[in-house]
Amino acid sequence: MDNKPVMLIVDDVEINRVVLTQFFQEEYSILEAENGQEAMTIIEGQPVSIVLVDLVMPVMDGFQLLAMMKKNDQYAGIPVVVMTANNDGDSEARAMEMGASDFITKPYNPTIVRCRIRNVMAREEIEWRRVAQVAQNRQLMEMHQRIELDALTGIYNREAFYRRAADMLQGHAKIPYSIVYLDISCFKVINDLFRIETGNLILKTAGFYFSMFVGDTGISARIEADHFVLCVPTDSLDMDKLIAGLDSTIQSLGISHHIHFYAGVYPVDNAFLPVDQMCDRAHMALNRIKGQYMTRYAYYDKGMRDQMIEEQMIVRNMEFALNEGQFGIMLQPMYNLRSKEIISAEALVRWNHPKRQMSPGKFIPIFESNGFIVRLDRFVWEAACRNLRRQIDAGLEVVPISVNVSRLNFYNSDFMDYLLALVKKYDIEPRMLKLEITESAYMDNPHQLIAMVRAFRGHGFPVLMDDFGSGYSSLSMLKDLPVDVLKIDMAFVREVGRSSRAGAIMESIVELGGRLHMDVVVEGVETQEQVDFLDRIGCHDIQGYYFAKPLDEESFMGLIERKQKGE
Ligand code: C2E
Ligand code: CA
Ligand code: CA
Repeated sequence: MDNKPVMLIVDDVEINRVVLTQFFQEEYSILEAENGQEAMTIIEGQPVSIVLVDLVMPVMDGFQLLAMMKKNDQYAGIPVVVMTANNDGDSEARAMEMGASDFITKPYNPTIVRCRIRNVMAREEIEWRRVAQVAQNRQLMEMHQRIELDALTGIYNREAFYRRAADMLQGHAKIPYSIVYLDISCFKVINDLFRIETGNLILKTAGFYFSMFVGDTGISARIEADHFVLCVPTDSLDMDKLIAGLDSTIQSLGISHHIHFYAGVYPVDNAFLPVDQMCDRAHMALNRIKGQYMTRYAYYDKGMRDQMIEEQMIVRNMEFALNEGQFGIMLQPMYNLRSKEIISAEALVRWNHPKRQMSPGKFIPIFESNGFIVRLDRFVWEAACRNLRRQIDAGLEVVPISVNVSRLNFYNSDFMDYLLALVKKYDIEPRMLKLEITESAYMDNPHQLIAMVRAFRGHGFPVLMDDFGSGYSSLSMLKDLPVDVLKIDMAFVREVGRSSRAGAIMESIVELGGRLHMDVVVEGVETQEQVDFLDRIGCHDIQGYYFAKPLDEESFMGLIERKQKGE
Protein backbone atom coordinates (compact mmCIF):
# COMPACT_ATOMS: atom_id res chain seq x y z
CA MET A 1 0.00 0.00 0.00
CA ASP A 2 1.24 3.42 -0.83
CA ASN A 3 0.71 6.36 1.49
CA LYS A 4 -1.48 8.37 -0.84
CA PRO A 5 -4.67 9.83 0.60
CA VAL A 6 -7.83 7.93 -0.33
CA MET A 7 -10.42 9.46 -2.68
CA LEU A 8 -13.84 7.87 -2.93
CA ILE A 9 -15.69 8.56 -6.17
CA VAL A 10 -19.43 7.87 -6.01
CA ASP A 11 -21.33 7.90 -9.29
CA ASP A 12 -23.71 5.44 -10.93
CA VAL A 13 -22.34 6.30 -14.40
CA GLU A 14 -19.16 4.38 -15.01
CA ILE A 15 -17.69 6.81 -17.53
CA ASN A 16 -17.81 9.61 -15.01
CA ARG A 17 -15.88 7.50 -12.52
CA VAL A 18 -13.29 6.64 -15.12
CA VAL A 19 -12.76 10.26 -16.09
CA LEU A 20 -12.32 11.42 -12.52
CA THR A 21 -10.01 8.50 -11.76
CA GLN A 22 -7.88 9.67 -14.67
CA PHE A 23 -7.64 13.13 -13.14
CA PHE A 24 -6.63 12.06 -9.64
CA GLN A 25 -5.01 8.64 -9.68
CA GLU A 26 -1.53 10.06 -9.38
CA GLU A 27 -2.24 11.93 -6.20
CA TYR A 28 -4.82 9.67 -4.59
CA SER A 29 -5.66 6.03 -4.13
CA ILE A 30 -9.03 5.84 -5.77
CA LEU A 31 -12.01 3.85 -4.51
CA GLU A 32 -15.30 3.68 -6.42
CA ALA A 33 -18.94 3.23 -5.46
CA GLU A 34 -22.09 3.18 -7.60
CA ASN A 35 -24.45 4.68 -5.04
CA GLY A 36 -24.68 6.19 -1.58
CA GLN A 37 -25.20 2.91 0.18
CA GLU A 38 -22.08 1.31 -1.31
CA ALA A 39 -20.16 4.47 -0.47
CA MET A 40 -21.29 4.36 3.15
CA THR A 41 -20.09 0.77 3.48
CA ILE A 42 -16.65 1.78 2.20
CA ILE A 43 -16.46 4.82 4.48
CA GLU A 44 -17.35 2.70 7.48
CA GLY A 45 -14.68 0.18 6.56
CA GLN A 46 -11.62 2.35 6.07
CA PRO A 47 -10.23 5.88 6.34
CA VAL A 48 -11.23 8.13 3.45
CA SER A 49 -9.72 11.59 2.84
CA ILE A 50 -12.23 13.03 0.39
CA VAL A 51 -15.49 11.99 -1.23
CA LEU A 52 -16.63 13.09 -4.70
CA VAL A 53 -20.30 12.35 -5.06
CA ASP A 54 -22.89 12.60 -7.79
CA LEU A 55 -26.17 14.00 -6.55
CA VAL A 56 -28.51 11.91 -8.67
CA MET A 57 -28.15 8.17 -8.14
CA PRO A 58 -30.38 5.13 -7.56
CA VAL A 59 -30.72 3.38 -4.13
CA MET A 60 -29.24 6.26 -2.13
CA ASP A 61 -28.58 9.59 -3.78
CA GLY A 62 -25.89 12.17 -3.05
CA PHE A 63 -28.02 14.27 -0.68
CA GLN A 64 -28.84 11.25 1.44
CA LEU A 65 -25.20 10.21 1.61
CA LEU A 66 -24.18 13.77 2.56
CA ALA A 67 -26.83 13.92 5.27
CA MET A 68 -25.76 10.57 6.70
CA MET A 69 -22.11 11.54 6.80
CA LYS A 70 -22.68 14.95 8.36
CA LYS A 71 -24.81 13.66 11.17
CA ASN A 72 -22.22 11.09 12.18
CA ASP A 73 -19.39 12.76 14.16
CA GLN A 74 -16.95 10.19 12.95
CA TYR A 75 -17.42 11.05 9.27
CA ALA A 76 -18.68 14.63 9.46
CA GLY A 77 -15.15 15.94 9.04
CA ILE A 78 -14.50 14.18 5.71
CA PRO A 79 -14.77 16.78 2.95
CA VAL A 80 -17.47 16.03 0.40
CA VAL A 81 -17.45 17.59 -3.06
CA VAL A 82 -20.68 17.20 -5.02
CA MET A 83 -20.94 16.83 -8.75
CA THR A 84 -23.83 18.55 -10.43
CA ALA A 85 -25.14 18.97 -13.91
CA ASN A 86 -24.68 22.36 -15.50
CA ASN A 87 -27.25 24.98 -14.51
CA ASP A 88 -28.40 23.12 -11.42
CA GLY A 89 -27.86 26.04 -9.06
CA ASP A 90 -30.56 24.94 -6.62
CA SER A 91 -28.98 21.56 -5.97
CA GLU A 92 -25.57 23.17 -5.55
CA ALA A 93 -26.90 25.61 -3.00
CA ARG A 94 -28.77 22.88 -1.12
CA ALA A 95 -25.70 20.62 -1.03
CA MET A 96 -23.54 23.47 0.24
CA GLU A 97 -26.08 24.18 2.96
CA MET A 98 -25.92 20.56 4.00
CA GLY A 99 -22.21 20.83 4.53
CA ALA A 100 -20.63 20.00 1.16
CA SER A 101 -17.20 21.56 0.83
CA ASP A 102 -17.58 22.54 -2.80
CA PHE A 103 -19.13 21.43 -6.08
CA ILE A 104 -17.87 20.64 -9.56
CA THR A 105 -19.99 20.85 -12.65
CA LYS A 106 -20.33 18.38 -15.45
CA PRO A 107 -18.97 18.16 -18.06
CA TYR A 108 -15.67 18.32 -16.26
CA ASN A 109 -13.02 20.86 -17.04
CA PRO A 110 -9.86 19.07 -15.83
CA THR A 111 -8.08 22.22 -14.66
CA ILE A 112 -11.04 23.57 -12.73
CA VAL A 113 -11.77 20.19 -11.15
CA ARG A 114 -8.16 19.75 -10.02
CA CYS A 115 -8.03 23.30 -8.64
CA ARG A 116 -11.24 22.90 -6.70
CA ILE A 117 -10.24 19.60 -5.15
CA ARG A 118 -6.82 20.95 -4.26
CA ASN A 119 -8.43 23.99 -2.61
CA VAL A 120 -10.81 21.81 -0.65
CA MET A 121 -7.97 19.66 0.56
CA ALA A 122 -5.88 22.68 1.47
CA ARG A 123 -8.77 24.23 3.38
CA GLU A 124 -9.31 20.92 5.06
CA GLU A 125 -5.72 20.76 6.11
CA ILE A 126 -5.86 24.26 7.60
CA GLU A 127 -9.09 23.48 9.37
CA TRP A 128 -7.67 20.27 10.73
CA ARG A 129 -4.62 22.04 12.00
CA ARG A 130 -6.77 24.71 13.57
CA VAL A 131 -8.95 22.17 15.35
CA ALA A 132 -5.90 20.30 16.56
CA GLN A 133 -4.42 23.55 17.79
CA VAL A 134 -7.60 24.53 19.60
CA ALA A 135 -7.74 21.14 21.26
CA GLN A 136 -4.13 21.37 22.25
CA ASN A 137 -4.56 24.89 23.56
CA ARG A 138 -7.56 23.91 25.56
CA GLN A 139 -5.69 21.00 27.05
CA LEU A 140 -2.75 23.22 27.87
CA MET A 141 -5.02 25.82 29.34
CA GLU A 142 -6.82 23.30 31.50
CA MET A 143 -3.54 21.92 32.65
CA HIS A 144 -2.23 25.37 33.38
CA GLN A 145 -5.36 26.30 35.23
CA ARG A 146 -5.20 23.17 37.29
CA ILE A 147 -1.64 24.02 38.27
CA GLU A 148 -2.05 27.77 38.58
CA LEU A 149 -5.41 28.30 40.18
CA ASP A 150 -6.49 27.92 43.74
CA ALA A 151 -9.20 25.25 43.76
CA LEU A 152 -11.43 27.05 46.28
CA THR A 153 -11.43 30.64 45.04
CA GLY A 154 -10.46 30.23 41.40
CA ILE A 155 -7.83 32.98 41.63
CA TYR A 156 -4.12 32.28 41.39
CA ASN A 157 -2.32 30.16 43.92
CA ARG A 158 0.97 31.06 45.58
CA GLU A 159 3.37 29.71 42.94
CA ALA A 160 1.42 31.18 40.05
CA PHE A 161 1.36 34.54 41.80
CA TYR A 162 5.11 34.53 42.35
CA ARG A 163 5.68 33.73 38.67
CA ARG A 164 3.11 36.05 37.20
CA ALA A 165 3.82 38.98 39.47
CA ALA A 166 7.52 38.72 38.59
CA ASP A 167 6.65 38.79 34.87
CA MET A 168 4.34 41.72 35.39
CA LEU A 169 6.77 43.77 37.48
CA GLN A 170 9.74 43.14 35.26
CA GLY A 171 7.76 43.51 32.06
CA HIS A 172 6.52 46.98 33.07
CA ALA A 173 9.56 48.22 34.95
CA LYS A 174 8.48 51.85 34.46
CA ILE A 175 5.08 51.44 36.13
CA PRO A 176 5.20 51.57 39.94
CA TYR A 177 3.46 48.57 41.49
CA SER A 178 2.46 47.68 45.03
CA ILE A 179 2.11 44.31 46.72
CA VAL A 180 -0.84 44.14 49.10
CA TYR A 181 -1.01 41.35 51.71
CA LEU A 182 -4.44 40.74 53.26
CA ASP A 183 -5.48 38.59 56.16
CA ILE A 184 -8.75 38.07 58.02
CA SER A 185 -8.48 38.67 61.74
CA CYS A 186 -9.42 35.64 63.81
CA PHE A 187 -10.51 33.53 60.86
CA LYS A 188 -10.13 30.49 63.08
CA VAL A 189 -12.91 31.81 65.29
CA ILE A 190 -15.19 32.04 62.27
CA ASN A 191 -14.41 28.43 61.37
CA ASP A 192 -15.11 27.39 64.94
CA LEU A 193 -18.33 29.38 65.28
CA PHE A 194 -19.83 28.51 61.91
CA ARG A 195 -19.72 25.60 59.54
CA ILE A 196 -16.72 25.12 57.31
CA GLU A 197 -18.92 26.12 54.34
CA THR A 198 -19.33 29.57 55.83
CA GLY A 199 -15.59 30.01 56.06
CA ASN A 200 -15.26 28.83 52.48
CA LEU A 201 -17.96 31.20 51.34
CA ILE A 202 -16.10 34.13 52.87
CA LEU A 203 -12.88 33.09 51.17
CA LYS A 204 -14.59 32.59 47.81
CA THR A 205 -16.33 35.94 48.06
CA ALA A 206 -13.11 37.67 49.00
CA GLY A 207 -11.30 35.98 46.11
CA PHE A 208 -13.97 37.13 43.71
CA TYR A 209 -13.86 40.67 45.09
CA PHE A 210 -10.09 40.81 44.72
CA SER A 211 -10.15 39.58 41.15
CA MET A 212 -12.71 42.29 40.30
CA PHE A 213 -10.70 44.90 42.18
CA VAL A 214 -7.46 44.24 40.34
CA GLY A 215 -9.23 43.91 36.98
CA ASP A 216 -6.86 43.26 34.09
CA THR A 217 -4.17 45.66 35.26
CA GLY A 218 -3.21 43.57 38.28
CA ILE A 219 -3.33 40.07 39.68
CA SER A 220 -4.69 38.48 42.81
CA ALA A 221 -4.00 35.23 44.61
CA ARG A 222 -4.77 33.25 47.72
CA ILE A 223 -1.43 32.15 49.02
CA GLU A 224 -2.60 30.16 52.02
CA ALA A 225 -5.58 29.72 54.33
CA ASP A 226 -7.09 33.21 54.72
CA HIS A 227 -4.10 35.08 53.29
CA PHE A 228 -4.48 36.90 49.99
CA VAL A 229 -2.03 38.94 47.94
CA LEU A 230 -2.50 41.47 45.17
CA CYS A 231 -0.08 43.02 42.74
CA VAL A 232 -1.51 46.30 41.43
CA PRO A 233 -0.28 49.54 39.87
CA THR A 234 0.38 51.91 42.75
CA ASP A 235 -1.28 54.86 41.01
CA SER A 236 -4.65 53.15 40.88
CA LEU A 237 -4.43 51.65 44.37
CA ASP A 238 -6.84 53.28 46.81
CA MET A 239 -6.52 51.33 50.04
CA ASP A 240 -9.53 52.95 51.74
CA LYS A 241 -11.65 52.03 48.76
CA LEU A 242 -10.28 48.49 48.72
CA ILE A 243 -11.08 47.93 52.38
CA ALA A 244 -14.48 49.67 52.25
CA GLY A 245 -15.53 47.65 49.19
CA LEU A 246 -14.35 44.46 50.79
CA ASP A 247 -16.22 45.21 54.01
CA SER A 248 -19.49 45.86 52.26
CA THR A 249 -19.10 42.83 49.99
CA ILE A 250 -18.46 40.54 52.96
CA GLN A 251 -21.25 42.20 54.96
CA SER A 252 -23.68 41.44 52.16
CA LEU A 253 -23.23 37.74 52.97
CA GLY A 254 -25.20 38.40 56.14
CA ILE A 255 -22.92 36.47 58.49
CA SER A 256 -23.58 37.43 62.08
CA HIS A 257 -19.99 38.05 63.01
CA HIS A 258 -17.60 40.89 62.32
CA ILE A 259 -15.20 39.82 59.64
CA HIS A 260 -12.29 42.17 59.32
CA PHE A 261 -9.56 42.11 56.74
CA TYR A 262 -6.26 43.77 57.55
CA ALA A 263 -3.70 44.71 54.94
CA GLY A 264 -0.01 45.47 54.62
CA VAL A 265 1.29 47.30 51.57
CA TYR A 266 4.75 47.11 50.07
CA PRO A 267 5.29 49.71 47.33
CA VAL A 268 7.76 47.84 45.12
CA ASP A 269 11.04 49.73 44.88
CA ASN A 270 13.01 46.94 43.28
CA ALA A 271 11.16 44.97 40.61
CA PHE A 272 13.83 42.29 40.64
CA LEU A 273 13.50 41.34 44.28
CA PRO A 274 12.00 37.80 44.55
CA VAL A 275 8.24 38.16 44.85
CA ASP A 276 8.08 36.01 47.99
CA GLN A 277 10.28 38.56 49.72
CA MET A 278 8.02 41.36 48.52
CA CYS A 279 5.11 39.48 50.06
CA ASP A 280 7.09 39.08 53.30
CA ARG A 281 7.58 42.82 53.44
CA ALA A 282 3.91 43.53 52.92
CA HIS A 283 3.18 40.89 55.56
CA MET A 284 5.57 42.59 57.96
CA ALA A 285 3.64 45.84 57.55
CA LEU A 286 0.44 43.93 58.22
CA ASN A 287 1.82 42.37 61.39
CA ARG A 288 2.48 45.78 62.81
CA ILE A 289 -1.21 46.64 62.93
CA LYS A 290 -2.56 43.22 63.88
CA GLY A 291 -4.91 43.45 66.83
CA GLN A 292 -5.58 47.15 66.34
CA TYR A 293 -9.18 47.91 65.61
CA MET A 294 -9.04 51.29 64.02
CA THR A 295 -6.10 50.84 61.68
CA ARG A 296 -6.88 48.52 58.83
CA TYR A 297 -3.74 48.81 56.71
CA ALA A 298 -0.14 49.89 57.00
CA TYR A 299 2.73 50.56 54.64
CA TYR A 300 6.07 48.84 54.75
CA ASP A 301 9.14 50.93 55.51
CA LYS A 302 12.79 50.12 55.78
CA GLY A 303 12.76 50.39 59.58
CA MET A 304 10.61 47.26 59.69
CA ARG A 305 13.19 45.31 57.79
CA ASP A 306 15.96 46.41 60.13
CA GLN A 307 13.75 45.46 63.03
CA MET A 308 13.12 42.04 61.58
CA ILE A 309 16.82 41.46 61.01
CA GLU A 310 17.50 42.53 64.58
CA GLU A 311 14.81 40.15 65.86
CA GLN A 312 16.25 37.26 63.91
CA MET A 313 19.66 38.08 65.33
CA ILE A 314 18.27 38.01 68.85
CA VAL A 315 16.54 34.68 68.33
CA ARG A 316 19.63 33.13 66.75
CA ASN A 317 21.84 34.21 69.63
CA MET A 318 19.67 33.67 72.72
CA GLU A 319 20.66 30.05 73.49
CA PHE A 320 24.32 30.75 72.99
CA ALA A 321 24.11 33.88 75.13
CA LEU A 322 22.49 31.99 78.01
CA ASN A 323 25.06 29.18 77.85
CA GLU A 324 27.96 31.59 77.56
CA GLY A 325 26.90 33.60 80.58
CA GLN A 326 26.07 36.76 78.65
CA PHE A 327 22.96 37.28 80.76
CA GLY A 328 23.24 38.78 84.19
CA ILE A 329 21.14 40.80 86.61
CA MET A 330 21.11 44.32 87.99
CA LEU A 331 19.46 45.13 91.27
CA GLN A 332 17.47 48.31 91.69
CA PRO A 333 16.83 49.27 95.30
CA MET A 334 13.44 50.39 96.51
CA TYR A 335 13.43 53.01 99.25
CA ASN A 336 11.12 54.15 101.97
CA LEU A 337 10.83 57.92 101.76
CA ARG A 338 10.46 58.42 105.48
CA SER A 339 13.08 56.04 106.84
CA LYS A 340 15.38 56.36 103.81
CA GLU A 341 15.92 52.62 104.22
CA ILE A 342 16.29 50.17 101.36
CA ILE A 343 13.25 48.00 101.80
CA SER A 344 13.66 45.75 98.81
CA ALA A 345 15.28 45.48 95.36
CA GLU A 346 14.11 44.45 91.92
CA ALA A 347 16.18 42.03 89.86
CA LEU A 348 16.32 43.19 86.26
CA VAL A 349 17.86 41.09 83.56
CA ARG A 350 20.70 42.42 81.41
CA TRP A 351 22.15 41.03 78.22
CA ASN A 352 25.83 41.84 78.24
CA HIS A 353 26.29 41.34 74.53
CA PRO A 354 29.94 41.64 73.53
CA LYS A 355 29.19 43.87 70.56
CA ARG A 356 26.00 45.76 71.07
CA GLN A 357 23.75 47.45 73.55
CA MET A 358 20.64 45.33 74.12
CA SER A 359 17.80 46.62 76.25
CA PRO A 360 15.23 44.34 77.91
CA GLY A 361 12.50 46.38 76.24
CA LYS A 362 13.78 44.99 72.96
CA PHE A 363 14.51 41.33 73.69
CA ILE A 364 11.92 40.52 76.39
CA PRO A 365 8.91 40.84 74.04
CA ILE A 366 10.66 38.58 71.54
CA PHE A 367 11.39 35.98 74.22
CA GLU A 368 7.80 36.25 75.38
CA SER A 369 6.60 35.44 71.90
CA ASN A 370 8.91 32.46 71.40
CA GLY A 371 8.77 31.07 74.93
CA PHE A 372 12.44 31.55 75.79
CA ILE A 373 11.40 33.95 78.56
CA VAL A 374 10.55 31.00 80.82
CA ARG A 375 14.17 29.86 80.87
CA LEU A 376 15.48 33.39 81.19
CA ASP A 377 13.14 34.15 84.09
CA ARG A 378 14.32 31.04 85.89
CA PHE A 379 17.90 32.12 85.34
CA VAL A 380 17.08 35.51 86.92
CA TRP A 381 15.24 33.94 89.85
CA GLU A 382 18.22 31.74 90.55
CA ALA A 383 20.60 34.71 90.36
CA ALA A 384 18.33 36.53 92.83
CA CYS A 385 18.34 33.57 95.21
CA ARG A 386 22.11 33.36 94.96
CA ASN A 387 22.34 37.00 95.98
CA LEU A 388 19.98 36.46 98.91
CA ARG A 389 22.20 33.62 100.11
CA ARG A 390 25.19 35.91 99.75
CA GLN A 391 23.51 38.57 101.89
CA ILE A 392 22.77 35.99 104.58
CA ASP A 393 26.31 34.61 104.46
CA ALA A 394 27.68 38.15 104.78
CA GLY A 395 25.69 38.50 107.99
CA LEU A 396 23.51 41.27 106.59
CA GLU A 397 19.92 41.96 107.41
CA VAL A 398 18.39 40.54 104.26
CA VAL A 399 16.96 42.95 101.68
CA PRO A 400 14.23 40.99 99.86
CA ILE A 401 14.45 40.78 96.09
CA SER A 402 11.55 40.92 93.71
CA VAL A 403 11.72 39.12 90.39
CA ASN A 404 9.62 39.49 87.27
CA VAL A 405 7.40 36.57 86.38
CA SER A 406 6.34 36.53 82.76
CA ARG A 407 2.83 35.26 82.15
CA LEU A 408 4.10 32.27 80.18
CA ASN A 409 5.30 30.73 83.43
CA PHE A 410 1.72 30.13 84.45
CA TYR A 411 1.36 27.57 81.69
CA ASN A 412 4.07 25.43 83.28
CA SER A 413 2.72 22.83 85.63
CA ASP A 414 6.00 22.61 87.56
CA PHE A 415 6.14 26.36 88.22
CA MET A 416 5.44 26.09 91.95
CA ASP A 417 7.67 23.05 92.42
CA TYR A 418 10.49 24.87 90.70
CA LEU A 419 10.22 27.87 93.01
CA LEU A 420 10.05 25.71 96.11
CA ALA A 421 13.08 23.71 95.00
CA LEU A 422 14.94 26.95 94.36
CA VAL A 423 14.41 28.44 97.81
CA LYS A 424 15.30 25.09 99.30
CA LYS A 425 18.50 24.86 97.27
CA TYR A 426 19.71 28.24 98.55
CA ASP A 427 18.15 27.74 101.92
CA ILE A 428 16.28 31.03 101.97
CA GLU A 429 12.86 31.96 103.25
CA PRO A 430 10.16 32.42 100.60
CA ARG A 431 9.29 35.85 102.05
CA MET A 432 12.66 37.08 100.72
CA LEU A 433 11.70 36.33 97.13
CA LYS A 434 8.90 38.53 95.88
CA LEU A 435 7.08 37.77 92.66
CA GLU A 436 6.10 40.55 90.25
CA ILE A 437 3.24 39.55 87.99
CA THR A 438 1.36 41.62 85.41
CA GLU A 439 -2.24 42.00 84.44
CA SER A 440 -1.70 40.18 81.17
CA ALA A 441 -1.50 36.89 83.09
CA TYR A 442 -4.85 37.70 84.66
CA MET A 443 -6.41 38.40 81.30
CA ASP A 444 -5.18 35.07 79.89
CA ASN A 445 -6.83 32.97 82.56
CA PRO A 446 -8.20 34.73 85.66
CA HIS A 447 -9.22 31.61 87.58
CA GLN A 448 -5.89 29.94 87.16
CA LEU A 449 -4.02 33.07 88.19
CA ILE A 450 -6.15 33.60 91.28
CA ALA A 451 -5.47 30.02 92.36
CA MET A 452 -1.75 30.38 91.72
CA VAL A 453 -1.47 33.65 93.62
CA ARG A 454 -3.24 32.09 96.58
CA ALA A 455 -0.83 29.16 96.46
CA PHE A 456 2.25 31.43 96.29
CA ARG A 457 1.12 33.43 99.27
CA GLY A 458 0.21 30.22 101.05
CA HIS A 459 3.84 29.18 100.70
CA GLY A 460 5.00 32.58 101.91
CA PHE A 461 6.03 34.26 98.65
CA PRO A 462 4.86 37.90 98.53
CA VAL A 463 3.13 38.86 95.29
CA LEU A 464 3.32 42.27 93.58
CA MET A 465 1.05 43.51 90.85
CA ASP A 466 3.46 45.19 88.42
CA ASP A 467 2.56 48.06 86.09
CA PHE A 468 -0.73 48.52 87.89
CA GLY A 469 -3.14 50.75 86.01
CA SER A 470 -1.63 50.18 82.59
CA GLY A 471 -4.06 47.48 81.48
CA TYR A 472 -7.77 47.24 80.97
CA SER A 473 -8.84 45.07 83.83
CA SER A 474 -7.10 46.69 86.79
CA LEU A 475 -10.11 47.41 88.89
CA SER A 476 -12.11 44.25 88.31
CA MET A 477 -8.93 42.31 88.93
CA LEU A 478 -8.37 43.94 92.31
CA LYS A 479 -11.70 42.57 93.43
CA ASP A 480 -10.55 38.94 93.06
CA LEU A 481 -6.80 38.97 93.22
CA PRO A 482 -5.25 38.90 96.69
CA VAL A 483 -1.84 40.48 96.00
CA ASP A 484 0.39 42.05 98.64
CA VAL A 485 1.65 45.07 96.75
CA LEU A 486 0.41 47.30 93.96
CA LYS A 487 3.19 48.76 91.89
CA ILE A 488 1.80 51.79 90.12
CA ASP A 489 2.73 52.01 86.48
CA MET A 490 5.47 54.48 85.60
CA ALA A 491 3.21 56.35 83.23
CA PHE A 492 1.31 57.94 86.14
CA VAL A 493 4.25 59.42 87.97
CA ARG A 494 5.51 60.95 84.73
CA GLU A 495 2.34 63.03 84.64
CA VAL A 496 2.94 64.59 88.04
CA GLY A 497 2.95 68.36 87.62
CA ARG A 498 1.44 67.98 84.14
CA SER A 499 -1.92 66.36 84.68
CA SER A 500 -4.00 66.70 87.80
CA ARG A 501 -6.06 63.71 86.73
CA ALA A 502 -3.09 61.34 86.87
CA GLY A 503 -2.34 62.73 90.32
CA ALA A 504 -5.92 62.16 91.42
CA ILE A 505 -5.83 58.58 90.17
CA MET A 506 -2.62 57.87 92.08
CA GLU A 507 -4.08 59.34 95.22
CA SER A 508 -7.11 57.09 94.86
CA ILE A 509 -4.97 54.00 94.30
CA VAL A 510 -2.99 54.73 97.45
CA GLU A 511 -6.20 55.07 99.41
CA LEU A 512 -7.68 51.95 97.81
CA GLY A 513 -4.51 49.99 98.65
CA GLY A 514 -4.80 51.09 102.25
CA ARG A 515 -8.37 49.85 102.47
CA LEU A 516 -7.58 46.53 100.83
CA HIS A 517 -4.48 46.07 103.00
CA MET A 518 -2.14 46.20 100.07
CA ASP A 519 1.06 48.19 100.02
CA VAL A 520 1.53 50.66 97.22
CA VAL A 521 4.85 51.26 95.46
CA VAL A 522 5.56 53.80 92.80
CA GLU A 523 8.25 53.13 90.24
CA GLY A 524 10.00 55.44 87.81
CA VAL A 525 10.40 58.28 90.29
CA GLU A 526 13.02 60.66 88.99
CA THR A 527 12.48 64.17 90.37
CA GLN A 528 12.13 66.01 93.64
CA GLU A 529 8.73 67.28 92.52
CA GLN A 530 7.49 63.71 92.12
CA VAL A 531 8.91 62.71 95.51
CA ASP A 532 7.16 65.65 97.19
CA PHE A 533 3.89 64.81 95.57
CA LEU A 534 4.08 61.13 96.58
CA ASP A 535 4.97 62.06 100.13
CA ARG A 536 1.98 64.33 100.25
CA ILE A 537 -0.48 61.66 99.13
CA GLY A 538 0.95 59.15 101.58
CA CYS A 539 2.85 56.91 99.21
CA HIS A 540 6.21 56.27 100.78
CA ASP A 541 7.69 53.29 98.99
CA ILE A 542 9.57 54.36 95.94
CA GLN A 543 11.68 52.85 93.17
CA GLY A 544 13.35 55.10 90.66
CA TYR A 545 16.40 56.93 89.43
CA TYR A 546 15.82 59.60 92.03
CA PHE A 547 17.29 57.25 94.63
CA ALA A 548 19.14 54.68 92.59
CA LYS A 549 19.47 53.26 89.14
CA PRO A 550 19.74 49.49 88.75
CA LEU A 551 23.12 48.49 90.18
CA ASP A 552 25.43 45.61 89.42
CA GLU A 553 25.66 43.06 92.19
CA GLU A 554 28.92 44.32 93.67
CA SER A 555 27.70 47.91 93.88
CA PHE A 556 24.43 46.74 95.38
CA MET A 557 26.20 44.66 98.05
CA GLY A 558 28.49 47.58 98.82
CA LEU A 559 25.52 49.91 99.17
CA ILE A 560 23.53 47.77 101.57
CA GLU A 561 26.62 46.98 103.65
CA ARG A 562 27.42 50.65 104.02
CA LYS A 563 23.84 51.48 104.86
CA GLN A 564 23.56 48.78 107.49
CA LYS A 565 26.80 49.83 109.09
CA GLY A 566 25.24 53.27 109.24
CA GLU A 567 27.90 54.97 107.08
P1 C2E B 1 9.50 46.65 84.71
O1 C2E B 1 9.29 45.32 85.36
O2 C2E B 1 8.40 47.64 84.84
O3 C2E B 1 10.85 47.22 85.29
C1 C2E B 1 11.08 48.55 85.55
C2 C2E B 1 11.84 49.18 84.49
O4 C2E B 1 11.91 50.56 84.72
C3 C2E B 1 13.29 48.71 84.39
O5 C2E B 1 13.68 48.80 83.03
C4 C2E B 1 14.00 49.78 85.19
O6 C2E B 1 15.37 49.88 84.88
C5 C2E B 1 13.25 51.00 84.76
N1 C2E B 1 13.33 52.09 85.68
C6 C2E B 1 13.46 52.05 87.04
N2 C2E B 1 13.46 53.28 87.55
C7 C2E B 1 13.32 54.16 86.53
C8 C2E B 1 13.23 55.58 86.41
O7 C2E B 1 13.31 56.32 87.39
N3 C2E B 1 13.08 56.10 85.18
C9 C2E B 1 13.00 55.32 84.10
N4 C2E B 1 12.84 55.91 82.92
N5 C2E B 1 13.06 53.98 84.15
C10 C2E B 1 13.23 53.40 85.36
P2 C2E B 1 14.43 47.66 82.32
O8 C2E B 1 15.43 47.05 83.23
O9 C2E B 1 14.87 48.20 81.03
O10 C2E B 1 13.31 46.58 82.10
C11 C2E B 1 12.26 46.83 81.27
C12 C2E B 1 11.22 45.78 81.37
O11 C2E B 1 11.72 44.53 80.95
C13 C2E B 1 10.75 45.53 82.79
O12 C2E B 1 9.81 46.47 83.17
C14 C2E B 1 10.18 44.15 82.69
O13 C2E B 1 8.89 44.21 82.16
C15 C2E B 1 11.10 43.53 81.69
N6 C2E B 1 12.09 42.73 82.41
C16 C2E B 1 13.29 43.10 82.94
N7 C2E B 1 13.89 42.04 83.52
C17 C2E B 1 13.05 40.99 83.38
C18 C2E B 1 13.11 39.60 83.75
O14 C2E B 1 14.05 39.11 84.39
N8 C2E B 1 12.03 38.83 83.41
C19 C2E B 1 10.98 39.35 82.73
N9 C2E B 1 9.98 38.53 82.44
N10 C2E B 1 10.90 40.61 82.36
C20 C2E B 1 11.92 41.44 82.68
CA1 CA C 1 8.92 44.69 87.38
CA1 CA D 1 6.91 47.92 86.26
